[in-house]
Order: sequence, then structure tokens, then C-alpha cells
Amino acid sequence: MTLPDDRPAEAPRPDKPEADYRELVENASDIIYTHDLEGRFTWVNKACERVTGYSVAEAMQLTVWDVIAPEFQKLVRDALEKRLSPEMQIFDLEMIARDGRRVPLELAARLIHSGNRPVGVQGIARDVTERRNAALALKASEDKFRGLVEQSLIGCYIVQDRKFVYVNPKLAEIFGYRQDEVENLKTVEELTHEPDLPVVMEYLRLRTEGKLASTHYSFRGKRKDGALIDVEVHGARTEFGGRAAVIGMLLDITERKRVERAMRVSEERYALAAQGANDGLWDWDLRENRIFFSGRWKAMLGLAEHEVGEEPDAWFDRVHPDDRQRLFGDLGLHLEGRTPFLESEHRVRHVDGRYCWMLVRGAAVRDAAGKAYRLAGSQTDISTRKEAEQKLLHDALHDGLTGLPNRSLFMDRLGQAMAFQKRRQDHRFAVLFLDLDRFKNINESLGHTQGDQLLIAVGKRLSRCIRPGDTVARLGGDEFSVLVEDYADADEPLRIAERIQDALAAAHDLEGTEVFATASIGIAMGEPHYAQPEDLLRDADTAMYRAKDLGRGRNAVFHASMHAHARAQLQLETDLRRALGRGELRLNYQPVVSLATGQISGCEALVTWAHPTRGVIPPGDFIPAAEETGLIVPLGRWALQQACRDARAWSDRGHRVSVSVNLSGKQLVQPELLEHVRSALDASALDARRLRLEVTESVIMENAGPAALLLTQLKALGVHILLDDFGTGYSSLSYLHNFRFDTLKIDRSFVSRLELGGKHAEIVRTIVSLARALSMEIVAEGVENVAQVTALQLLHCDYAQGYLFSRPLETSEFGALLDSHHVFALPLPPAARLATEG
Ligand code: C2E
Ligand code: CA
Ligand code: CA
Repeated sequence: MTLPDDRPAEAPRPDKPEADYRELVENASDIIYTHDLEGRFTWVNKACERVTGYSVAEAMQLTVWDVIAPEFQKLVRDALEKRLSPEMQIFDLEMIARDGRRVPLELAARLIHSGNRPVGVQGIARDVTERRNAALALKASEDKFRGLVEQSLIGCYIVQDRKFVYVNPKLAEIFGYRQDEVENLKTVEELTHEPDLPVVMEYLRLRTEGKLASTHYSFRGKRKDGALIDVEVHGARTEFGGRAAVIGMLLDITERKRVERAMRVSEERYALAAQGANDGLWDWDLRENRIFFSGRWKAMLGLAEHEVGEEPDAWFDRVHPDDRQRLFGDLGLHLEGRTPFLESEHRVRHVDGRYCWMLVRGAAVRDAAGKAYRLAGSQTDISTRKEAEQKLLHDALHDGLTGLPNRSLFMDRLGQAMAFQKRRQDHRFAVLFLDLDRFKNINESLGHTQGDQLLIAVGKRLSRCIRPGDTVARLGGDEFSVLVEDYADADEPLRIAERIQDALAAAHDLEGTEVFATASIGIAMGEPHYAQPEDLLRDADTAMYRAKDLGRGRNAVFHASMHAHARAQLQLETDLRRALGRGELRLNYQPVVSLATGQISGCEALVTWAHPTRGVIPPGDFIPAAEETGLIVPLGRWALQQACRDARAWSDRGHRVSVSVNLSGKQLVQPELLEHVRSALDASALDARRLRLEVTESVIMENAGPAALLLTQLKALGVHILLDDFGTGYSSLSYLHNFRFDTLKIDRSFVSRLELGGKHAEIVRTIVSLARALSMEIVAEGVENVAQVTALQLLHCDYAQGYLFSRPLETSEFGALLDSHHVFALPLPPAARLATEG
């Protein structure tokens, strides 16, 4: 401000204050002074000494520049040069007192003029030390609280005239703004969701007017980005700048509302579900540790409403002991916030004692700190699903027919036993490999339904033979296995094998048919050198084959030498291949004797092998190997040719005998067989009616279609077809109708039981009369004594063969026997036979 030059002088001269005021001025508590334009004091009142320490006389020796604190000197100089006017100007500055103390002053000064010319300055200075100290104290305390508010995690605000005159950073953040974007700029309307505005304004009004001292309520706010948020405010009336305002705190409760809404939604859903559906509900107040159980929850467990309290143990005590830890684990994880929701499957005890599988789902409600204070959810009965699952699992590990463990489960248990032995050296175990003898025959002759029944029955008997903890499994077909574990006596596996064989010895009654099922058992001891369960099972299998070699219903313990035996078997095959080429095979002939005359009516050709190193090997020792390798086809062809040649030679010497040649199943599926037979007949020029082909019922059952065709074609050649081993397949006599056999050969097992009489003789009698009705001839084989011959004669059996008459003979021996016209002596003469007829 510049000094107007044309202004008339209004103030009195500085050295002559007006008399009226003199007293007042002298004694005023503020310093009143004048100084000239150079700053030399020209007058000061008495207050000067009290405030500054300088006496009036001392002050008169000083200039303003001597007493004003250095940092304020420029301010004063500028004011003097430019701005000071005749009107009072206010300054805040500090001076240095006589003792060096700084004294804050509030100064009012004006320029004084003489006429048009400024001559000096007149001023009043007030010591504001106390006031300033008070202000500083206030500011310090304000800063402290402001700091708190600014740091606060709660939004704080002051609203006046609908405008935010103060907000802390948190409040701005809640709404998505910076502090300076809101403060003094935004109104309540701008931060409120439109529909909620009337309510908000009403609350503001009530509070501003003091009609509501303090309130809290929630409404929806509007963020800078337009998103809606749920906020809760706690507000109170205050004064701001002397006028009414509202001060308050604001919380973002969007998340809490969301959870609440979700809870409400799910609660409604549960309420709905609970009415009609099967879910039980529970609601756990974690603070009170009480659980509300819905009526349905209780009913699911067979409990009446009043039978369950609200204590958590009402639930947990009913949980299956094996499942409790898992449930607690699931609960813990969720309560700690480590899983988004609770989900647990466990068994809960029903009042009737059984356990129901329950699926429990739930969710926790948490406070602002994330601590769960409530956990609520549902309980669903999943027993049916669990049962289905368990059935699936059971089915995957068990044999569908017998219900026994299957191969997978068996191998698993075996693996476990092996692993256990690695830890505990003295753990003993053994594997029994069991194969039913001649099951194929039984299955084919009785039919698969009965075969299945036999397997089921065998499974049951096996299960009864083992001790608890041992495992019986069906590996497939007619193969079973047993895992015997943890026994004291080293002979235990053998004893169990014998127990099994004893148990199987009794006849099975399959819908009236008596069936005997023996089994061959191989045993492998669980020795530590085994690496794989498969190795052990393989060795038990090898031992089983060894047992089969010993005959039906036997057992064998695996020994390393059996591998040698298996190798020998392999060697046998190689040798047999060579034997055919080298002519090491021979045909022996067993006479077939007429029970009417005692004369030789024919013979059966039986092959033997004159092995160069092993001596004579019977057919039972190499025919199976020949069948397995297919060598039976060339072997069979050779046998046909040889038998025809020999028979033709006998015929040339006048013996009209027939020759029987055995056919194996493998041959009966070869269409070449017809050609082989024809060429054997052609080559030998043997009358086809002299040739008989022996087939077993199982061979026909196995290859019903092709075999039937071949047999028909063979019959067309004039060859006789003989049904061998009749009775061993427990065969139904019925299918004899389907096949036109010329001859029926009663198996040795029947013949040997003939002496027992009664029922056994009755069976043979039935066979004979049936065969007779079908115009078949009957041969009995394996006749070893006179009693059997007598019985057979009484039963009108036509022919017989057996050691009683003769063992199989070499070609030359048999030829000699024929040439001798030998007649075997019979117990009953033909006349006696005739006498029994009718
Ligand atoms: P198979 O056809 O049932 O032959 C009868 C078997 O009973 C013969 O055994 C015979 O020596 C034996 N045997 C005869 N009489 C008696 C007796 O009174 N008591 C006893 N205990 N046994 C008697 P083998 O010679 O050891 O022949 C065994 C099996 O080998 C034959 O049973 C037959 O199935 C098969 N076989 C023999 N030669 C041939 C052949 O050339 N081709 C085919 N495919 N199989 C053959
Ligand atoms: Ca035979
Ligand atoms: Ca036979």
C-alpha cells in the first residue's frame, strides 16, 4: 500500500500526545510508542519496561532496528517503505527483549503525517506470549488427534451444510477418492446412493439440529467409480467454525453385508430345503458353544426332538470313532479360514445302532478380524451313494461269482505281506495255488450254470479251511489262491493244503448230481529273496503243475528244482519234435475181448515213446505236451497210418479185428483230419469198418460244431466212432441222442466201482440199457479182475479190455497173440449169460 500524497494530516504530532489521553496511554498495558522515519523511538509508555526490560529512558536511545528480531526486520522495512498507511496495520512479529528473550508481539501501527509529509510511525504492541503458548499447546494436541484420525482405519468426517469440510484419508479411500478430492469439494449427495439420500439427509438434519445426539445407521454409498458400497456411520453433532456441524465415523461394511446376504439367502434356501427335503440343519454359535439342530437333523438319526440338547457333543459323540479325527480336521481347517467352506463325509450313529454316512457342508460367519463366531450348515444322508461306492470298490477287488477277493486284491495283500517281511524278518507267509482237477470236463458236461455253482461251493469250502487273517482269492477260471500269513509252525501251509483237499473230497450235490472236485495245490513259501508278488505266485503255479503230475488231488511245495522240471518240459517238446522224425514212437495194442465168447474182437492203439536216454515214456507224460504244442497233429497222423498198416497186416493173416485209434480235441478241429484218415485207409487198403476212432465227450463238447461235422464225414467213410471215457465228464446221457456213436466205452472209474455193487452197478446198468436202446456197442475198459467181468457180463456189456486180459502189447506180440487164436476164459459161459436175460 502506497501513501497517498494529497492526504491531509489528521493525526497529532508524535511528540505531543493529546492531554486527554495522556494518562490512559501512559498506563495502558500494551506498549504504545512513536518513532521517526529512521526508526528512532520518539516516545514510549511505561508498559515498555514491563514487556521489554528497557526503561523509558533506555528505549529513547534505541531504534526499532535494535529491538525487532532479525527475521522480521524486512517485513517492517517493507511496511515502512511501501505499505504503511494512516490506517492501522496489524503485524505479528517478535522482538528481542533487554535480557535477550524473544517476545511475540501483535502490533498495530500507522503512519503519522505532518501536513502532507509522513513524519513517523505510531503503534501499539501487545505481548502475546501467553496467547501464543496456549495456541501452540492447542496445536500440539490437535496435531496429536489429527495424526490419529489421519491414520485411522475408520473413515472420519465433518459435514457442514451437506459438505464434507473434513475427511480423513480412509474415508476418501472408502469412496475411491484422494483426500483432497473430497475435502471441501464433495457433498453428501455426491457420495450417497440416490435412493438412500432421503434417509441420510433426514439423519443429518436431525443431528445438526441437535434432535438426535448420536446415531448410527447404514446406507449405501456411491464410490468414485460408480460402485455401490455398504457403509455404516456413527455421527454426532459438533461445532465447526462456530456453526453446527456433524462429526462422525464411517465403516465400509460391504463385505459383512455380502456375507449376511449370502447367509440369508442360504438360510432361506436351507429353510426351504429343510421343509421338504432330506437335509438336516445345524447352526453352531461358537461364542456360546451351542448348536441348534433342526428337527430333521435329529430325525435322520432316529432321535426325537427332545432327545438332543444344544451341546456340540450331541453331534460329535455320535460320529464314528474312525471318522472323528477327520471331521475335526475339516472343521479346524475351515475355522482357521484355510478352506472356503466346510465339507466332510463321515459316519454318524443312528439310534438303531447302525452308522449312516453323512455329508456335512457348512460355512463360517466371521467378524471384522476374520474370526469365526458362527458356523452353520447342512447334513445329508449319503449312505446309499457310499454303499454304491463301496460296492464299486468291492466289485473291483472281488470276484463276481464267488465273492472272494480277486487277483488284484490278492496281489495287493501279497505285496503287503512281502513289504511287512522287509521290516520284520520273522514274518512268515506262503502262497497256495489251487487248480481244480478236470474242471473243464465238469463244466462242459454239466453246463456252465452247474459249473459256476461248483466254483461257488468250492469257494465256500476254501473259506472255511483258512484261519482269520488269511486270504482266499479266485484268480480266474478254476484257479484259486490262498495267502497264509503269520503262522508259528513251518508246516502250517502244508496242513492247510491238506485240510483243503480233505474238505473238497466230499461230493458236491449240484441239483441232484453228485460231483467230485479234487484240486491240485502248489505251495510257495514267502522267502525274502522274492522281489515281486508275481514271482511268488508264478512259483506256486509251477508247484501246482508239479502236483498235477503226481495225480489228482495232490499238493507240492515249490522247490528251485521245479524250474529245472519246467526246463525239462521244454526239453521234452524239442525231443518230441525230433522223435517223430527219428521213429522213436511206437504203437502198442491192448486187446479188446468179447464178453460173449472170450475171443479178441479188436484192439486199442496206445502210443509210447522209446526215448533214447529216458527209456519208454507212457503217453500220459507227453500227449498233453504234444497237444499244447500242436505236435499232436503230426503224431496223430502217424498213429493213424501206423495202426491202419498194422491192422491191414493182421487182416492179411486172416484176423478180422478192429483197431481203435485215439483222437485228441486238437485233431478234431483240423479239417485235414478227414484227409488224413482217408489217406491212411487208402495207403493201407484197410476196410474202413475195421477202424474205430476214440473221442472223449469233452472233445465233442468243446468243439461241438466243427467236431460234429467231421464225425459225420468220418462216419460216411464207414469208420466207427467210439465215445471214450464215458462217465468221467459226469455227462448227461442225454446228449448221446444228439450224436450217433457206434460204440460207448465205459470209463475205468465206473468199472472199478462195480464191485461195490448197489448204486454203482445201477449207474452202469442204466448206461448199458440206454446204449442198447440207441443200438450202440458197449466196451468196458480197465477191467482188472474176474469180479468185474462177472458183473459186466451180468449187465450184458459186449466187450471189455484191461490188465486182466492183457497189458498193451507191442505190434509183434499182439500179432502173435492173434495168430495163437487165444480165447480168454470168462467166469460166466455164454449160456449163463443168456439164462440171466429175461
Ligand atoms: P485212454 O484212451 O483211456 O487209454 C486207456 C488207458 O488205460 C491206457 O493208458 C491203458 O494202458 C490204460 N489201461 C488199460 N487197461 C488198464 C487197466 O486194467 N488198469 C489200468 N489202471 N489202466 C489200464 P495209456 O496207454 O497210459 O494211455 C493214456 C492215455 O493217453 C489214453 O487214455 C489216451 O487218452 C492217450 N493216448 C494214448 N495213445 C494215444 C494216441 O495215439 N493219440 C492220442 N490222441 N491219445 C493217446
Ligand atoms: Ca482210448
Ligand atoms: Ca479210456
